[in-house]
Amino acid sequence: PVQFADAAVTVVGARVVGLSASAALLARGARVTLVDRYADEATTARAARAEAQGAVLRLGDDETLPEGTELMVVTPGLPPSAPIVAAARAAGVPIWGDAELAWRLRAPLPDGSYAPWLVVTGTNGKSTTVRMAEAMLKEAGKNVAACGNIGYPVLDAVLRGQAGGEAGDPFEVLVIELSSYQLYWSATISALASVVLNLAPDHLDWHGSYADYTTAKGRAYENCQIAAVYNAADLETVRLVEEAEVVEGCRAIGFTLGAPGLSMLGVVDGILADRAFVPDRRTSAAELGTVYDVEPHAPHNVANALAAAALVRAYGVEPTAVRDGLRAFRPEPHRIAWVATIDGVDFVDDSKATNPHAASASIGAYDHVVWLAGGLAKGADFDELVERHAKRLRGAVLFGAERHLVAEALRRRAPEVPVVDLGGPGPEGAGDVMAEAVAVARGMAVSGDTVLLAPACASMDMFTSYGERGDVFAAAVRELKDKLAAEA
Ligand code: ADP
Repeated sequence: PVQFADAAVTVVGARVVGLSASAALLARGARVTLVDRYADEATTARAARAEAQGAVLRLGDDETLPEGTELMVVTPGLPPSAPIVAAARAAGVPIWGDAELAWRLRAPLPDGSYAPWLVVTGTNGKSTTVRMAEAMLKEAGKNVAACGNIGYPVLDAVLRGQAGGEAGDPFEVLVIELSSYQLYWSATISALASVVLNLAPDHLDWHGSYADYTTAKGRAYENCQIAAVYNAADLETVRLVEEAEVVEGCRAIGFTLGAPGLSMLGVVDGILADRAFVPDRRTSAAELGTVYDVEPHAPHNVANALAAAALVRAYGVEPTAVRDGLRAFRPEPHRIAWVATIDGVDFVDDSKATNPHAASASIGAYDHVVWLAGGLAKGADFDELVERHAKRLRGAVLFGAERHLVAEALRRRAPEVPVVDLGGPGPEGAGDVMAEAVAVARGMAVSGDTVLLAPACASMDMFTSYGERGDVFAAAVRELKDKLAAEA
């Protein structure tokens, strides 16, 4: 265990994670300096809470390293290229993200054991997989925390019932979504089981290169204890498992949408089959329910379900609890959410598809799609996506700051697909652009088609979040439906 008493710790970022970190470190006797780039009213108000607990504030300068720093704890969004990171490295100061700090602050449960960590990362499907695993663990009667990058910081989950943490019973098991940023700033985390769901370019602006991004994701497998779970259809995840330094005896477990080989989970005649965590796996498999227990019932989501099943099976959850968990699971909003059907055309909100790989999975789930796309590309490339789905695309309706990148890819790789460019962000409100997009898309679609909001881009050029973007889309669809009903 690390001794924090009297250690000089610099915490970078006075937001949710930084404030939790400060509170926990102060409660253990550390001398904390809380640093933030901004010194505006909102930041000052947030930081005041840490100051009241004993932290020294340094707002308005996040470039220089405070004198005497022995450890730096960073908010996961801080890029490796930040000057304060260079300063800490030059001074030989260790740098931890919030997940690493959480790992170091774990406390034993009443029986002396530690709550195991089931870690989920990958480019797409993380939140869904975490929620599915959570549902399975609940069915198994476990006191589980679904935490990490899904709205409940892992540090808060770990500290529950401890000094500096929230009140409540400590959790028995944690399912943790870790972003590539959090993994980048991790070093010693040792998950019971971990999965890299899939890999495709994303956040390259932060990491600098695709190689650095995948390396960060691969850290999920480092020191893994029981099962390093890979996607048999994604060779990059296979490579990462092969390269990882795992604990002696840890097994590589694959998942596939086809029939499972030995030490794999897969699908046989629509049944989810486990040939990894059964004693007689050479000759038999455990049944974990069927593909129809998975909602929405799209291939990529069956893959998520198998990944979640692998994690909880590694922890010893029974097959029936896996099945019942899948049946109890409900998708979160804006993930392939059906909104309405108008004249035989389905309108579907997959606003959470914020990169080409995610958009590709959802477009691939339908036969004929009118595609609503655009926004902030984050350095992504759209050629492969539009080429793969050219035959499915009835048309594309584009909006947002970097829509021209999508338009150019369509022109290059799918010139036969009709494209309507709606502009934005501009003086007219995002709501107006979206209403027009919905109306134009309806005009392009024929009965049986799907109008799909799967923008392949981030939303912040026109909306506050992917959630707002999806809500604005759904509102526009309902308004159109009401208007048509009134006319009829
Ligand atoms: P994350 O937490 O990784 O962002 P989510 O579970 O919230 O992932 O899903 C985000 C989007 O990614 C979904 O709306 C869907 O379009 C797509 N998606 C989900 N699972 C997968 C998968 N296994 N492969 C590809 N795309 C996926």
